[in-house]
Formats: sequence, C-alpha cells, structure tokens
Amino acid sequence: MKKFLSGSSLYELTSYAKSRQIPAFRAKQIYSWLYDHAVCEPEKMKNLPAALRLMLQEDFYAPGSRIAERVNAADGVEKLMLQLYDGECIEMVILPAADGRITFCLSTQVGCPVKCRFCASGKHGLVRNLKAGEMLEEFALGISCAGRPDNLVFMGIGEGLLNFEELAKTLAVLSGEFNFAPRRITVSTSGYVPGMKQFATLKKEYNLAVSLHAVDDETRAKLIPPHLRYPVKEILSAADEIREANGRQYTLEYTLIAGINDSLEAAEKLGRIAVSHHAKVNLIPYNETGNEFCRPDKNIIAEFEQKVASTGARVTCRVERGSKKTAACGQLRVMRMQKKEEGI
Ligand code: SAH
Ligand code: SF4
Repeated sequence: MKKFLSGSSLYELTSYAKSRQIPAFRAKQIYSWLYDHAVCEPEKMKNLPAALRLMLQEDFYAPGSRIAERVNAADGVEKLMLQLYDGECIEMVILPAADGRITFCLSTQVGCPVKCRFCASGKHGLVRNLKAGEMLEEFALGISCAGRPDNLVFMGIGEGLLNFEELAKTLAVLSGEFNFAPRRITVSTSGYVPGMKQFATLKKEYNLAVSLHAVDDETRAKLIPPHLRYPVKEILSAADEIREANGRQYTLEYTLIAGINDSLEAAEKLGRIAVSHHAKVNLIPYNETGNEFCRPDKNIIAEFEQKVASTGARVTCRVERGSKKTAACGQLRVMRMQKKEEGI
C-alpha cells in the first residue's frame, strides 16, 4: 500500500528525496506546503518542478481523498462528502459559530463497529479504519474550503478510540507539525474503556467527550449493543483517569431520546454524576434518522436541562444544526450508500 503524503515527517520526506535523488531542500518545501499551508495536493505546490509533482502523485496518496460533494446546510454549516482512494466515503463537517469561530468535525472510521441503535454511522457496521493520513487530509481539505479552524472535534463517523494508533498519530501531527493546540481538540468516545485507558497515556491536554446517554446500564443497553458496551461505572472511572492525566474537565454527552432517557429522574442523576466527577454535561436532542427513536418535545428538553442545572452541574444543550435530513453524523454517507444500492 502506498503511503499518504499528509502526515509525512520531515525525516520521512528527506529520506524519500534521497532515495529519489532529489535535492534535500525539496523535502523542506514539501513539508512547508503540507504544514504551513495545509496543502496536500502536489499540483498546488507551486514552487516544485512539474516532474516532482507528478512523482509525488505516483509515489504517494497525495491526496487519497477528494471532495465528492459539498452540501450547504442551515446556519452556514457545510458538509463535505469525501471519497477515499478505495471508493469508500466519509463526511467531515464545517461548523461556524455566531462569533465567527469555526469547528471542524472529523471522521475516524468508515462506518462504525459499535452500532449504536440510534446512529446512522453504525447502521452498516465497520468497513475499515481510516489512516492518520486520511484524517489529516480531512483537516487539509476542510481548510481548502473554509480556512484554518479554531477547534477540532473527532465526532464524525466512527469510534476513534477503536482506531487508537492512527488517531494518536493524527493528534501528534496536528499538535506538532500543524501547531494546533491540544486544548482545542476534542475526542468523543462511546465509552470504549480499553481505548480510553490508552488515551490517558497520551497525557496531553486533548479534551474528552464521553457519550454516556444513560445514567444506568439498563437504559444504556437499550441504545448500545453489548459487544462493545462497557458499564457506566467503568466508563466514568476511565474518564476520571484521563482527567487526572491531562488536567482537563471532560464532557458527558447525552443524546436525549423520547421515552428512553428523558425522565426528570434521569436528569437529576445525570447532574449528580457530573458534579461528583467534575464534568460538564452536553445535551444533544436526538436528530431523527428514520428508525424507532424520536426527539423529545421542546418543553421536555427544557425541563430536563433545568433539572440537570438545578444540581449545580454545568450544562449546555446543542441542537444539531444542518438541514433536518442530513444533520446527524453519518447520515449523508448512508443516504449515498442507499442511492448506490438503488442505482441512482
Ligand atoms: N463514536 C463517537 C463519536 C462519533 S458520534 C461517539 O459515539 O461518541 C458523536 C456524537 O453524535 C455521539 O455523542 C452520538 O451519540 C451522537 N449522535 C449520533 N447520532 C445522533 C443522532 N441521530 N442524533 C443526535 N446525536 C447523535
Ligand atoms: Fe459509532 Fe458513535 Fe455512532 Fe455509536 S454514536 S455507532 S459509537 S459513531
């Protein structure tokens, strides 16, 4: 398999240049294009000779992905559907905030093996892990559309902590070569405890978001199949370990689903858990994706939020933005797969 140009270190580029009898300063030029300018396409590396640009395209995936579709959703949210070198598809999302700050939401896998029952990304299981170079291409291609972001969240398709090695490499290049502050990067996990323990060993100020969704194991079992589900207690203890290692308060993500996890009793328990673990709560009203789950009514969501806040916990409520059809992560990809199946 070819290597990805994105993610190459200066050492690797210099060794490559040597092996191809290219002067060493060319390696530095490529490096500068990759990381000072976030350009991953050789044809845009203007100060390189045409022959070298072609050589890079032949020797590397440079890039492996291309923007297959740009979808503008509500509130300035833009979704990029990226087609990978093997024809598979992933999404990355560009989310502008009212204050002008931009967040990129990146995918870590093609599909997802956790298969949460409410999530479009897990619908068809895992196809394959993304390579670090592919996650870095998401970042670079996002920049080519929207400029450098202020924040990065690994909350797109996939469970990043099940692809730990490539995720760790991606994080290292982002905070190293790209000089992107770790405290502006958030990794979201469905509570995959072995991966959380590995994440704790990074000891950098990356933020952690834990998709808890339920305050007890019984409710959680309604949402997440057993093969990759861990007990709430173990998840919280692994999250505490990460907080102790990186000094960052973590977030408990809680997707609110009508009749499943939206009772006031659950709200109070959630608030108490957050307070005792020094965590923040982020409520995500469920975005319907055509299965049996529904978003609770507005007033239920508001009461739930108030109840969590009444315990003294810090709580925010994120209404998924983007047009209704494509707002939740993984939905665009699934829609495209369906179109293919139907021959459209
Ligand atoms: N696998 C990781 C990161 C990707 S999912 C994780 O589960 O944390 C990112 C977040 O989106 C999770 O909190 C997930 O529960 C939420 N999510 C997925 N589908 C959703 C939907 N249809 N509506 C609202 N939130 C959803
Ligand atoms: Fe995977 Fe996260 Fe979706 Fe669950 S919510 S299926 S872990 S992407």
